[in-house]
Amino acid sequence: MMICTCEECRYTFPKLNSSKYCPDCGSEAVRPATDKEIDEYKAYQQEFHPESQIA
Ligand SMILES: [Zn+2]
Repeated sequence: MMICTCEECRYTFPKLNSSKYCPDCGSEAVRPATDKEIDEYKAYQQEFHPESQIA
């Protein structure tokens, strides 16, 4: 799974094949997340959504 970050609102999310837009603000300014952003994303998932951990 590819993790991406929106340049507009800094929302980090798993990118789905069907979408190139930020699911939060709808911007097209989406780029691959950095390692640091991916770490933050995983930490957030573990803290708030432990039932849906990503590998
Ligand atoms: Zn956004």
